[in-house]
Amino acid sequence: MPQAERRERIFDGAVQESKPENEKMKFAVKAWSKSGRARVGLLQLSSSFAQGGPPAKEIEIETPALLLTTRKGLPAFISPDHLSSLPSPDSRLLQFSPMHFMEGPNSNTISTIGGVHQLLGLPDYGFIALPRDSILSLPECSSSNKHGASFETPCGRFLVKPLEYMKMISSMKPDLWVSLADEVHASVTVKRNKASVDRTIRWLDDCISLKSTDGALFGSIVGGSSIEERQHCAQEVAKRNVSGFYLGGFGLGDNVDERSKLLHAVTDLLPKEKPRQVCGLGLPEEVLQGVAAGIDLFDSMYIYHLTLGGFALIFPLDGKCKQVWDSQQIAMGSDGTKINLKATIYRKDTSRIVDGCICYTCQNHTKAYINHLLNVHEMLAQILLEIHNTHHYLCFFRVIREAIREGRFAELRHTFIENRRDYLLAASLGSRVL
Ligand SMILES: [Zn+2]
Repeated sequence: MPQAERRERIFDGAVQESKPENEKMKFAVKAWSKSGRARVGLLQLSSSFAQGGPPAKEIEIETPALLLTTRKGLPAFISPDHLSSLPSPDSRLLQFSPMHFMEGPNSNTISTIGGVHQLLGLPDYGFIALPRDSILSLPECSSSNKHGASFETPCGRFLVKPLEYMKMISSMKPDLWVSLADEVHASVTVKRNKASVDRTIRWLDDCISLKSTDGALFGSIVGGSSIEERQHCAQEVAKRNVSGFYLGGFGLGDNVDERSKLLHAVTDLLPKEKPRQVCGLGLPEEVLQGVAAGIDLFDSMYIYHLTLGGFALIFPLDGKCKQVWDSQQIAMGSDGTKINLKATIYRKDTSRIVDGCICYTCQNHTKAYINHLLNVHEMLAQILLEIHNTHHYLCFFRVIREAIREGRFAELRHTFIENRRDYLLAASLGSRVL
C-alpha cells in the first residue's frame, strides 16, 4: 500500500490521512474508541540494520502495545531461546537504556559489531532506546544541569550530555530512540520545572542537529505537574521533525488522580497520526488510564517488579465477568490481579497459575513447583514467572485493543476498576464477594 495513500478507519466512520515521517518506521491509526482518545494503531518497523547479516524481516505490531523492558537489551530473566515462546509479534519490541552499557563495550566496539541488533543476535526484533527505564536507569534531577541529564544506575551516577548521548545512539542503531530529557520529580519548584522544559526542547534540537542514524526519533515532552508547561513543551516538540512523542516525567511522584488531566492536555495537542510513548505507567489501571488518554506504547517495569517479588498475574482477560474473591487468597496477600507464589498455601497446589494459559510456564509447571523454586532461591522461579507474567500482560494489551475496536473500551476499564473496588471491600470485610 503506498504510504501517502494510507487510510485509517475511524470508529465513527470518518477517514483520516496519515503521512509517515520516517522510512524506518510507519504508524497508522486503525480505530478509535467512542470517547475519541483511545486508539488502535499499527506500528511497522523494517529492521534492516543487519549489516552483513541475513536480511531482516519487517515487524508489524498493533498498539496499544507493551514494550519489553530489558537489562542490556534482553528481559531480566528471559533468555533469547525463550523469547520466541512469547506471543508474536506482540513481544517483538524491546526497550533498553544506553546507560546500561556505560561499563560495557564502548561505542566504537558496538558500532563495529553492527549495533544492538547484531550485538544481541536479534535482527528480527525492534529496539527502542530511551535514557530512562524505571528499573536500572532513573533520572536524578537534582544533579542534572544545563549541560546534561543525570541518571542513577547500578554503575553509579552519570551526567549525560546530548553529544555523548547521540554517540551512543549512533553506535547502537536502535529502530526508535527518544531524545534526551530533563525529567523532574513532580514536587520540584515552578522555576526548576520551567528550566526542565527549556532544556528538554534545547536538547531535542541538539539531538536533531547531531542525528547520524536512520532510527526514528521520538521527541521528549516534559513539564512535571504543570498543565501549562506540558502544553508549551508539547507544542514546541510537535513543531520539530520527529516521528513520535515520548511523554516523560510520569511515575515520578505525580498524583494518579491528576494524571489524566496532564495526559489529556498533552495528547489533545499532538498530531493524531504519530505514536505516543510513556514510561512509568505500569499497573493495569495505569495502563488503562494511559490508553484512555491516547497513549500507544508502555513499558513493562511492572512485570519486572512482580517477578522479583514472586508474584504471578491472574486477573481474568475476558474483561467482562465480575470476579469472585476467594477469602483464602485474600488472606495470603492476593489483590485480585496477582498471587504471591511464595505463600505456603501453594506448597501442595498442583494446579497451573492460570487455567487455560498457554504460556510455557503454565503448560509445563505447577504452582507447587514454582513455590518450591522460590523457597530454595532458584533463579528458574524468576524465569518461569517472567515468562507467565509477560505472556499474561501481552494478552491484556490484546484484550484492550479488541475492546477499542469493538467500541467497549470504557466498559472494559469500568469493569476492571469495579473488580478492584470489590476486592478492597471484600478484603475489608474478610468475606466473599459475589
Ligand atoms: Zn501462564
